[in-house]
Amino acid sequence: MTTIGVFTSGGDAPGMNACLRAVVRYAISRGCRVVGIRRGYEGMLAGEVEELDAQSVSGIVQLGGTVLKTARCAEFYHEAGRARAAAVLREAGIEGLVAIGGDGTFRGAHRLAEEHGVAVIGVPGTIDNDVWGTDATIGFDTAVNTALEAVDRLRDTATSHDRVFFVEVMGRQAGFIALAVGMADGAEIILVPEIETSPRRIWETIAAGIARGKRSFIAVVAEGDEQGGAFEIARKVQSYGDVECRVTVLGHILRGGRPTARDRLLASRLGAAAVEALLEGASDKMAGIAADRVALTPLPETWGRRKELDRGLYELAGILAR
Ligand code: ADP
Repeated sequence: MTTIGVFTSGGDAPGMNACLRAVVRYAISRGCRVVGIRRGYEGMLAGEVEELDAQSVSGIVQLGGTVLKTARCAEFYHEAGRARAAAVLREAGIEGLVAIGGDGTFRGAHRLAEEHGVAVIGVPGTIDNDVWGTDATIGFDTAVNTALEAVDRLRDTATSHDRVFFVEVMGRQAGFIALAVGMADGAEIILVPEIETSPRRIWETIAAGIARGKRSFIAVVAEGDEQGGAFEIARKVQSYGDVECRVTVLGHILRGGRPTARDRLLASRLGAAAVEALLEGASDKMAGIAADRVALTPLPETWGRRKELDRGLYELAGILAR
C-alpha cells in the first residue's frame, strides 16, 4: 500500500487534528503518500482531495476542530453516492482510508468497504464516548474538562446564592459526559438517558440534602435524558418545593477548544495504529483503546453493540455527593 487517504467526518471533536497529524506523519515514516479529503463524505463526493506532506500538518496538534473540515452528507446514504465516492478514491490512487469520526461515519465507511472493497480503518473521534470497542473516544476527555470548568464556576454562584443549578451537557443517546462531569464535580444529581428517574425523586434528593444542611445543589443533565432537557426538568422540580432553580445549557461549547494532553495522546496513538493496521492488511475495523492497548474492532460492532454506562460509578457518585 503506497497511498493512504484520510478524512474527518460527522461532529467535530477536539483531538481530530492531532489524529490527522499522526496519520500523515506516521504514514510518511512508513514510506506512504498521504491524501487528505476535505469536508468528510461531502468533500469525497466532490473530489476535494489534496496531497498532505509532513509540513502540512505542523502547528495543529494543539488545535480544536478539524483543519480538514467536516460535513454531513445526505448523498452518502445512497448506493449511487457511495459508488461515486469509490470512483473518486480510485482516481486519487487511494488504496487505504482512515476515517476519523463517530458511528455515522463508521456506518458509511463500512458500506464503502463492503460494496466497493475499499480498505478502511475507523478512528473514534466524538466527544460522546458512546462507541463500542474503545474505552475512550478522541475528544471526550477535553469535553469533560471543559464542562468541569464551567460547572466549577456555576458552583461558586450556586453556593453564594443557595441555589440549585441544572447544567445541561451534550449526550443525546448516552450519559458518559454527564456522569464523568458529575462525578468529578461532586454534583448532587446526575441525570442520564440510561437511568430512569422522576422529578419527584430529584426533589427528594434535594430535600434530603437540605435536611442534612446542604444549601446549594448541582444537577448535571445529559441532553438526552428521558425527562426532557434541563429547562423542563428544572421547571418540574421547582413545582415541588421552595428552591430557586437556574439552568445553564453548555451545548456546543463542549465541542471546541484545545485538546487535553490525554486526548492528544490518544489521537496520536490511534492515528498511527490506523495506518499500521492498513499496512498489515486490516480493513473494515476501528482502531480503539482497551485497557491501554490498541485494539481493532469490526466496524459493525462499534455501533451494533451498546457501550454500557458504569452503573457502579453512577451509584458511587451519588454516595460521595451526600
Ligand atoms: P458521526 O460520525 O459524528 O456519528 P453522523 O451520524 O452525522 O456523524 O454521520 C456522518 C456522515 O456519515 C453522514 O452525514 C453520512 O454521510 C454518513 N453516514 C451516516 N450513517 C450512514 C449510513 N447508515 N450509511 C451510509 N452513510 C452514513
